[in-house]
Amino acid sequence: MRRKADLIITGANQIVTVAGNGKPRHGTGMTDLGIIPHGAVAVSHGKIVWTGPEIELQDAVIPANTAQTVDAAGCTVLPGFVDPHTHLIFAGTREDEFADKIAGVPYMEIAAKGGGIKRTVRTTREASLETLINIGKNRLDHALKLGITCVEIKSGYGLDTDTELKMLRAANALRQSTDMEIVTTFLGAHEVPPGADKGLYLDTVCHEMIPLVARENLASYCDVFCERGVYTVDEARRVLTTGLEYGLKPKIHADQMTNFGGAGLAGELGAVSADHIDYTDTDGIDAMIRGGVIGVILPGAVFFLGLTRYPPVREMIQRGLPLALATDFNPGSCFSQNLHLMTTLACTQCRMTIPETICAITLNAAHAVGKGDVCGSIEVGKRGDLVILDTPEYEMIPYHFGHNHVRQVICNGKIID
Ligand SMILES: [Zn+2]
Repeated sequence: MRRKADLIITGANQIVTVAGNGKPRHGTGMTDLGIIPHGAVAVSHGKIVWTGPEIELQDAVIPANTAQTVDAAGCTVLPGFVDPHTHLIFAGTREDEFADKIAGVPYMEIAAKGGGIKRTVRTTREASLETLINIGKNRLDHALKLGITCVEIKSGYGLDTDTELKMLRAANALRQSTDMEIVTTFLGAHEVPPGADKGLYLDTVCHEMIPLVARENLASYCDVFCERGVYTVDEARRVLTTGLEYGLKPKIHADQMTNFGGAGLAGELGAVSADHIDYTDTDGIDAMIRGGVIGVILPGAVFFLGLTRYPPVREMIQRGLPLALATDFNPGSCFSQNLHLMTTLACTQCRMTIPETICAITLNAAHAVGKGDVCGSIEVGKRGDLVILDTPEYEMIPYHFGHNHVRQVICNGKIID
């Protein structure tokens, strides 16, 4: 039976489908991108209804009267990219601190002057809901131009109940002005608020914030920064299990600066993802695999902080851990939304192969935010999220670094101008 379509993409040199079996890819599976040479894609009412070799298009698809056709001659078509870890909503930037840091001023000294995360907390507390929505909207527009059609957004610059809720309300409100897929995560335990008692603050997170976030249905996930000097494994477990009691699935900032046990906790709780994992050891990797956790690597943060310890990606892939790749977009450690650039860093700094990076910003990234059945690959039934590159091969993404090869984005079946 021929399927009706209202949007048809033809002429592509290759369709990189990253089609899976409903599961994230691991091991050598991460390099199998399901490429269809000289392929076409058909979309109807925002959903993919067919993809295959273009010579089969006529027999498979009937264009609706009003159907739009996109000529992708000489181009590569990929699934819309997924950025599975961002702190997209915050007010104020810290470029002067970056200058200080380059000049050799220690972070502790910057923090003592009211800089660092404290400063972003202050400016975000002062910003109105409308301001945060506008800031978020501009950043989403920018992401979309890079071919990103699904973004995870965390709270975590409020560190008080009102502002944490305000950040999540802003993130949720963005859905009204975009067709992008938005996933929200509560990260009240991002830091200990300036001047606060950690135990009392954790009581507020668990007894006040999480119940309110759940009541207003503001987030799908609960996250915590588990690190030496921030939240211990036991404290992180308390936050994440409280989240679970309220229906918020766990995510975790794990092993970023030290091998601290965050990956093990992620495995124990069956977290959706454990992110950073720069210092995670073999036991941590195996715990994640046992728990069905996806590893999200954030090489942009390592790079921007001028550090040298990147996650042990080869060991992770060889042992069978599915990996995703994200920007970690935030004002302190990675002020970049350029997911393309992160593929380059993953290649050169972590020895990830080019096909693995593509899998890591599409299918596996979608699974890392619980959207593996919604987006992340070009498959029948998934959202019509497509990226058309102005180049015949996808390898250009990490190779031509810093350049945006995206010629056209289709988001939820709509051609973006
Ligand atoms: Zn983060």
